[in-house]
Amino acid sequence: MTEILAIHAHPDDIETLCGGTLALLAAAGHRITIATMTAGDCGSTVWDNAETARIRKGEAAAAAALIGAYYTCAGFDDLAVFNNDAGRRRTTELIRDRRPEIVITAAPSDYHPDHEATSALVRDACFAASVPNYKTGDAPALSAIPHLYFTDPIEGRDRDNAKVMPEFAVDVGATFARKREMLEAHASQRGWVLKQHGIDNYVASTEAWTRRRGKHFGVAFAEGFRQYKVHPYPAQTLLQEIVGAALLTAPMRSA
Ligand SMILES: [Zn+2]
Repeated sequence: MTEILAIHAHPDDIETLCGGTLALLAAAGHRITIATMTAGDCGSTVWDNAETARIRKGEAAAAAALIGAYYTCAGFDDLAVFNNDAGRRRTTELIRDRRPEIVITAAPSDYHPDHEATSALVRDACFAASVPNYKTGDAPALSAIPHLYFTDPIEGRDRDNAKVMPEFAVDVGATFARKREMLEAHASQRGWVLKQHGIDNYVASTEAWTRRRGKHFGVAFAEGFRQYKVHPYPAQTLLQEIVGAALLTAPMRSA
């Protein structure tokens, strides 16, 4: 069984972008950790930061528990995720603590600064985690760099609003209902997303996105990924192998 760490910026990003894939992998017996860089402390106009963080960490843990995953938060504040020395050490320590063979993280270009900083931090921390003399805390260095994957950016668009097509996708038709339940666990976000982003039904918007990605690959529901395999990151297609028959590699031409 494979140890998998899915780490994104905020509570609900992972569920939105790869919850169906994680549900599939969990059902197959793989061990999953869902980590967020922040506790989403700015995601409320009702509660203060501390109360919002407390509520959202509880929601994230409840969402993770639906697939038997472990949840942890790296302890950054919202809009304060930076690719600097302290941030890289903290991220590296989290990766060393979970000891994953596969890491799934944010797309390099995405609408939110925390998403982009998370992507760069996790990419570089995956490398740093294997360097014994790079000191971060109690967890020992990894023996190898994990296999690294990027999710789609939110809505599949980069900072220039250009479409970002995945290298492959995972058919999540069998686990979409569970993905929906995971999103619904983030109950505090429905009101916030409506107020801040004008999206009336936050679960429906994710459903629409997962359907759109599915259409690109000729199935009902899908989630897209790209593998980062520039030297010295591993090029073995481990995630593609363990999703088995759910792997989709041929996007439709009209997508
Ligand atoms: Zn986010």
